Amino acid sequence: MAFMSDIEIAQSCKPKKITEIAAAAGIDEKYLELYGNYKAKIDYNMLKDGDRPDGKLVLVTAINPTPAGEGKTTTTVGLADGLKKLGKNVMVALREPSLGPVFGVKGGAAGGGYAQVVPMEDINLHFTGDFHAIGAANNLLAAMLDNHIQQGNALGIDCKRITWRRAVDMNDRQLRNIVDGLGGKANGTPREDGFDITVASEVMAVLCLSSDITDMKERLGRMIVAYSFDGKPVTAHDLHAEGAMAALLKDALKPNLVQTLEGTPAFIHGGPFANIAHGCNSMMATKMALKLGDYAITEAGFGADLGAEKFLDIKCRFAGFQPSAVVVVATVRALKNHGGVAKADLGQENLPALEKGLPNLLQHVENITKVFGLPCVVAVNAFPTDTAEELALVERKCRELGVTVALSEVWAKGGEGGKALAEEVVRLCEQPGDFRFCYDVNDSIEEKLNAIAKKIYRADRVILTPNARKQMQQLTELGFDKLPICMAKTQYSFSDRADLLGAPRNFEITVRNLKVSAGAGFLVALTGDIMTMPGLPRVPSAERIDVDENGKISGLF
Ligand code: ADP
Ligand code: MG
Repeated sequence: MAFMSDIEIAQSCKPKKITEIAAAAGIDEKYLELYGNYKAKIDYNMLKDGDRPDGKLVLVTAINPTPAGEGKTTTTVGLADGLKKLGKNVMVALREPSLGPVFGVKGGAAGGGYAQVVPMEDINLHFTGDFHAIGAANNLLAAMLDNHIQQGNALGIDCKRITWRRAVDMNDRQLRNIVDGLGGKANGTPREDGFDITVASEVMAVLCLSSDITDMKERLGRMIVAYSFDGKPVTAHDLHAEGAMAALLKDALKPNLVQTLEGTPAFIHGGPFANIAHGCNSMMATKMALKLGDYAITEAGFGADLGAEKFLDIKCRFAGFQPSAVVVVATVRALKNHGGVAKADLGQENLPALEKGLPNLLQHVENITKVFGLPCVVAVNAFPTDTAEELALVERKCRELGVTVALSEVWAKGGEGGKALAEEVVRLCEQPGDFRFCYDVNDSIEEKLNAIAKKIYRADRVILTPNARKQMQQLTELGFDKLPICMAKTQYSFSDRADLLGAPRNFEITVRNLKVSAGAGFLVALTGDIMTMPGLPRVPSAERIDVDENGKISGLF
């Protein structure tokens, strides 16, 4: 059977005008800022309006994935459309895609099959310009920093301890490490520098965690850009940069409204990296979704050990959100991968390997229910290559172990294929939750690291390299020890080694680097080499993307 590509399916659908979608969602026209017929930004003042109680917050997360992704976005969209089919008032909140992965390997981030958000071409390419604004704000700060040094360096900035990097929304390894300021006295100070992809900029994390413009401005001001010769942090506020940066970001802070293929309203807003940042859409978008919908369905990046943990321990802590239920997406192919099957053979039926991979799923479910105290359902995201026996085995084993499970066929059937999952979610949302964090934010840095490593990853302990231990001491002395932790770790394993699949035991987590994102408000713990500027693969997806004389785009997945 031949399948239509995601873009062909998306282009075959007739979307409604965004004014219609907004009206149905209950958004007053006065808050609507139109970007053409199918996109709009929503004024943040809408959040101050009315006193309707918040809806139920549902998080979609996943088991440790294979590099192709296991369908969190697809499931988020399909679950929302399924809830709509049950007659529920539902809103979606998702991240905005970055151009890096769009032109690189992973592809788009607007869902797949019959569970997509549209217009997917726009969402995947530029959209409403938020990322460019974030890049501009990031680079304004970089320019002001180097200019300050050029103009006499009154703050005594140590050029060897500049932490602020420039940003561009592209996978461009050529810019990872550069030397700039060449050309003599009038042309700046020669120094080592580099670019990060825009989604890895702290400005992105700040925008996504801000509750309003004032909060955003304060957070921007707190961002550390360098250290002085006497070891003191130099901030964006010291450079008087936060006002102009916030001015550049005033529209980027407004959530973007679009729709699913079935006309469910969806906010697509913000896209912080899921490693050095917290990996979920903006706080503003989630708040708006909760304000408008009886159900707000949202996604967190990577597997639940990273994405859900950070969503719950960082975002929900900051915003005071009380999630009602968690969906853990699992696929037959990823479970077989955890059961020892090589990537090339994942398309073949293998029931013993499938069963052997289940402990990975079960540990994620246990973390959600026992560590975080939240109701949880497993969504088995059915792929065309799965056999009926394989799908039945996962469902049966989950039931035997008392794990709530639903087959999700949203990729093939849209909302109709998400009704079973939607029914379970509705049921779980009525159950009493006992939401708690994984750690007390007032514990020491080392205690917090150990709590995550032992409770979530099931490691024996955390090892800090001598370098990380020194950084921990310095951060504690600077008063940054009472912040939540943002773990940067491989997404493929519970451990810090990508090849340790399943549910590993008897291992240690090594923290190599600790730094503060003082504006975002968390400490980043790096457990390996984390790339903040990816490169393109041998054959980038960009080679397949084209546009015809009418402006119709093709090859975008
Ligand atoms: P995630 O959000 O977990 O990274 P996505 O939802 O973006 O995953 O899906 C990753 C890719 O897999 C997309 O290209 C999507 O079209 C595809 N995909 C997801 N679910 C299915 C499915 N059930 N069958 C076939 N392809 C799927
Ligand atoms: Mg996704």
